[in-house]
Amino acid sequence: MNLKEHIRVVPDFPQPGIRFKDITTLLNNGPVYKEVIDRLANHYRGQGIDLVAGPEARGFVIGAPLAYALGVGFVPIRKSGKLPGETIEAGYDLEYGKDKLAMHKDSIRPGQKVLIADDLLATGGTISTTINLIRQLGGDIVGAAFLIELTYLNGKDKLEGIDVLSLVQY
Ligand code: 5GP
Repeated sequence: MNLKEHIRVVPDFPQPGIRFKDITTLLNNGPVYKEVIDRLANHYRGQGIDLVAGPEARGFVIGAPLAYALGVGFVPIRKSGKLPGETIEAGYDLEYGKDKLAMHKDSIRPGQKVLIADDLLATGGTISTTINLIRQLGGDIVGAAFLIELTYLNGKDKLEGIDVLSLVQY
């Protein structure tokens, strides 16, 4: 199955010059969406993963079904101000803009094996902030899984020491 055929590239969104990879067309197709989750789950099954953590919003769309497929818990990483419990926060620069991410302090126990999941790796800003938060809580990061990697932005360089898997590259 060629996953790229199911991803819509939208020019000049959300800003001129950005070629946005729209995954809603892929999510709209049940067998293709299932194939994505199955491929990721098959890669990580048997590695003793305790939790999958994903940043909102598209990290939930990949991370939550992946957690379900692996039979483990899911940790939502959210924009600042959204989580009701006690949180830790970290700021970061986006490919376009700035943001702050938060996690519940009690969402990961020290030594738990955590897999990070998101739809797309661009500059790596989102995931390096996610790594920072998980490490603050003492989580042991097993790897980072993406549907898409924009290799020309070299996001991997920011994730040194982390095993990165992506199913589709541009
Ligand atoms: P980074 O922090 O690596 O620069 O950007 C990755 C984050 O921005 C991901 O959470 C992703 O959802 C979002 N993002 C950036 N560019 C795109 C894009 O072209 N398509 C999609 N679907 N998400 C994007």
